[in-house]
Amino acid sequence: MKYIAPDQIEQVPGRQIRPGEHFAFRCHAQLSCFNQCCRHLNLFLYPYDVLCLKNHLEMTSDQFIDQHVDVVLREGHYFPEVLLRMSEEGDHPCPFLTPQGCRVYPARPHTCRLFPIEQGVLFDSAQKRTTPVYFFRPFDFCKGPGEPQTWTIEAYLKDQDADTYYQMNLKWAQVRQLFQADPWGLEGPQGPRAKMAFMAVYNIDRFREFVFGSSFLKRYHVKSTLVKKIRHSDEALLEFGFEWIRFFVWGKPSKQMKVRK
Ligand code: SF4
Ligand code: SF4
Repeated sequence: MKYIAPDQIEQVPGRQIRPGEHFAFRCHAQLSCFNQCCRHLNLFLYPYDVLCLKNHLEMTSDQFIDQHVDVVLREGHYFPEVLLRMSEEGDHPCPFLTPQGCRVYPARPHTCRLFPIEQGVLFDSAQKRTTPVYFFRPFDFCKGPGEPQTWTIEAYLKDQDADTYYQMNLKWAQVRQLFQADPWGLEGPQGPRAKMAFMAVYNIDRFREFVFGSSFLKRYHVKSTLVKKIRHSDEALLEFGFEWIRFFVWGKPSKQMKVRK
């Protein structure tokens, strides 16, 4: 989910779908393109995608990262991107693709959930306001737009159960946006602080061990209501991970934690 400045919106590919506007789309197994779109993809995974997938698959974060993820740090970037690793076989299908469709459907990533819609965040820096924006961008071979069913964006998002994904990915996008600058200094983006930050958002199991199995809670005062919440909820712990990155990488003041004296 990208931040888009108001003067860039015309350059975003696809047809912008505004609130209340309709688009035609239906995906089903009788279409000749069925399953063709789940191959050879650069499918970015956001922290909440990884959390939902690894829980759905009943894997540990380490197992999921080892088996299903490519971590890519692009030249000139300060935080890595995480891609779902496609199969090496044939036309490189997604590892979760079966002849009947997606085997992780209830936990499919945000990008898959919204396809053929792409979501961005319009960022008005003058007003300090963010607004979700949507672009209709089916693949050329996708037959879904030829189907008679029509949607407004509101109805489609509800149908795809995408709201929590949007809320979590927006929070992550706000943190990710900070990494346009280099916080690492001489240590570089592969150093210990960078590894810690990656763990906090992409390896929830290790982050849980770090928070509850180390001296973390002795070194930092975290509100007791929050401690209770993050002990039992992966989603709350992930949001705490976002806050932790702001706090320890960027030195942003936090209402939720402070260094114990
Ligand atoms: S190409 Fe489009 S219609 Fe065909 S399976 Fe994929 S999303 Fe559905
Ligand atoms: S996760 Fe599911 S919907 Fe997404 S590319 Fe893989 S098989 Fe397709």
